[in-house]
Amino acid sequence: MKKISIVIPAHNEEDNIALIHHRIKDVFRTLDNYRSEIIFVNDGSRDLTQKNIEKLALENEEIKFIEFSRNFGHQPAVKAGIDYSTGNAVISMDADLQHPPELIPDLIKKWEEGFDIVYTIRKYPTEISYFKRKTSHFYYKLLSSLSDVNLVKGGGSDFRLMDSSVVEVVRNMNESDIFLRGLSTWMGFRQTGVHFTAGERTSGESSYNLHKMMKFAFTGITAFSVRPLYLAAYLGFLFSAIAVVGYLIYVIHALTKHTEISGWASLIMTVVFFGGVQLIILGIIGIYLGKIFKQVKERPNYIIRSKNF
Ligand code: UDP
Ligand code: MG
Repeated sequence: MKKISIVIPAHNEEDNIALIHHRIKDVFRTLDNYRSEIIFVNDGSRDLTQKNIEKLALENEEIKFIEFSRNFGHQPAVKAGIDYSTGNAVISMDADLQHPPELIPDLIKKWEEGFDIVYTIRKYPTEISYFKRKTSHFYYKLLSSLSDVNLVKGGGSDFRLMDSSVVEVVRNMNESDIFLRGLSTWMGFRQTGVHFTAGERTSGESSYNLHKMMKFAFTGITAFSVRPLYLAAYLGFLFSAIAVVGYLIYVIHALTKHTEISGWASLIMTVVFFGGVQLIILGIIGIYLGKIFKQVKERPNYIIRSKNF
């Protein structure tokens, strides 16, 4: 019998734990040749998530859990689950049932056909906010244009099957601020996608607010591309060229008309404008510097408080 590890990060998901376990159990009842290992990663929840997981783990031997010492974020939680998985394949999915467990047999089928990574392509139902759909779409377009990571439209979710050979590679990566969505396309291997429609989250609230989404977006882009750093050089050339042309015009004007061009207002605006441009560029350099700073300290991506295996 082959073992499939299901990795489920959970942050304040007290009502979803039993629900998702029930649905996964139903799915595996229809799969004769596979058994499951369910790894819940409690990412610093402040509700009854941990208690509910432990209760469930007492009654079901396939349930494992990892409890973080605090909230480390979704990506480190998935990484932790992958690190400790023992299955022939690993499937990562959200705890809020936006990733339907009923898709698992399709993922396994593709895996058995010989694919190493089976990602999922999400179609948003119209109930999901227009803002979220559009920003997500725009972001993945931006990411593809800036880096060598080409995520297919709707392919940016962490509902994915990975063969144990891929899992081995992920396990040995120790970059801080890990961005699995990009990594899994970057790694190569034989990949294919399966379509699904994302549902509404069953209960609780999405932990991603605008600030977290922005941070996540920056993490992704700066993890896979250094192209934003080129912005400084390009803008430098552009503005130098404009300045040279402007200077020539000024000299010719002064020589032929014998009058001075006055205008301190335009002067101030120019100074303010360039102040802004310089700060933006400094900020971009700062983001990369911060990443290097984090990486050289080699702090772990997560800290485990307890686990049941
Ligand atoms: N999650 C986590 N740590 C966090 C935020 C979220 O482990 O800091 C988990 C959460 O419990 C869920 C998954 O990551 O299983 C996706 O989170 P969420 O549903 O909030 O994101 P959305 O679906 O809105 O993008
Ligand atoms: Mg969700």
